[in-house]
Amino acid sequence: MKKQFKNRHRMLESFGYEFAVHCPNCNEKSKVISPEAPYYTDAIKRFICTSCGLMKEKIPDKNCFNQNVISYGNSWRDGFINIGGNYDWYFGYPLYLQAPCCGHTLWAYNIEHLCYLEEYVEAELRGPSPYYLSVESRLPIWMKIAKNRNAVLKAINKIKHGLLSIK
Ligand SMILES: [Zn+2]
Repeated sequence: MKKQFKNRHRMLESFGYEFAVHCPNCNEKSKVISPEAPYYTDAIKRFICTSCGLMKEKIPDKNCFNQNVISYGNSWRDGFINIGGNYDWYFGYPLYLQAPCCGHTLWAYNIEHLCYLEEYVEAELRGPSPYYLSVESRLPIWMKIAKNRNAVLKAINKIKHGLLSIK
């Protein structure tokens, strides 16, 4: 039987509660935690590295309408919450779950996000018309096409194995 992926219409934002990142001090796996949605104002964002003990806290800047300012895309803009690149949204630290793939970079915020991508890419049958803002509708073409399926799954596996090797 062919593997199926049922659209769950999850937005990228729904995976942003935790980011596995490289610590800017020791380069080890560390994390940025944000239980609240990015548009939620005055919420403290935390960075924690259990390897070297570095900790940081930050409250995102607001605009004159008292709203958080969010930028979508893959270039970093200071003073914004930056959604869409291979870094966390608040501090801009490089994601830990990354691997080169098909001339691009495959990345995920956390293990749940990575497994979601894996399930989607693995599926030979995909649900029709996903919500236009969902992760599945916004994935780059190179991740969606059948000829890249094995390469993408290999990259996902490589990331998973890298995680398993951490003490
Ligand atoms: Zn560290």
